[in-house]
Amino acid sequence: MQRVCRELRAGDRVLGFVPTMGALHEGHLSLVRRARMECDVVVASIFVNPLQFGPGEDFGRYPRTFEADCRSLEAEGVKVVFAPEASEMYPEGAVATVTVPDVGDRLDGASRPGHFTGVATVVAKLFHIVGPAKAFFGQKDAAQVAVLRQMVRDLNFDLEIVTCPIVRDADGLALSSRNKYLSEVERGQALALHRCLLQIQEEIAQGERRSKSLVRIGLEVLRAATGVRVDYLAVVDAGTLRPVEMAEKGCLVAVAAYVGKTRLIDNFLVDK
Ligand code: AMP
Repeated sequence: MQRVCRELRAGDRVLGFVPTMGALHEGHLSLVRRARMECDVVVASIFVNPLQFGPGEDFGRYPRTFEADCRSLEAEGVKVVFAPEASEMYPEGAVATVTVPDVGDRLDGASRPGHFTGVATVVAKLFHIVGPAKAFFGQKDAAQVAVLRQMVRDLNFDLEIVTCPIVRDADGLALSSRNKYLSEVERGQALALHRCLLQIQEEIAQGERRSKSLVRIGLEVLRAATGVRVDYLAVVDAGTLRPVEMAEKGCLVAVAAYVGKTRLIDNFLVDK
């Protein structure tokens, strides 16, 4: 893969990279399209990374749709798909990992201990293998973006991280491979996450900036919804993920909640 990517970069071609765990949907494809616009050649990876799943999480049953994924990526003009086996990425005896303290211990990192060490480790490895000039990630996973930006800065990765907007279904539900787990009833209940964020946006537009009040109002929406169990709802600095007292422009409002057994996330950046 390293040799293939070196050849793709020949003649100073800008190589764009889109890492995924597969089960591709329009959210993933929006990253590919952005990469195609900004780069000369685009490489994607499909790897369900065991290192970023905790015990009792959904690693074993994570949706795998490899053949269809490859067809979608080819149709979008992706030149090479890297889909290694776990045993190739983590051969026996491999022990080095990448940990991004503090930022990596917040939001999803707090709820899923070790998750962002798994993410940072696999993404560092993929960056070394593919050697992209630009790598494309979704704002959907806002905490992941913060962790990876910190890693790239601290460890001098010579590449640019490009963040792409959240792609949603017509009714507002953020697209996610995990939406496949939802029953029809749960699919309806899951809309509470988007509704909660819309309510907070509305409060901000009305002049409420105090994080405490915004979180209280958002929690009311979530608690009024049946079948929804809140993991976190927070107003944080988008770079450090530390809580902020006031929701100023650029802050991140992020939510995670279980609908049935399925953990869903959503967020928005305060735009004014
Ligand atoms: P995953 O396969 O879930 O690891 O996601 C791979 C990439 O696609 C990550 O950078 C995600 O943030 C991004 N992504 C997933 N869902 C969406 C979405 N609804 N909108 C935009 N990007 C997304």
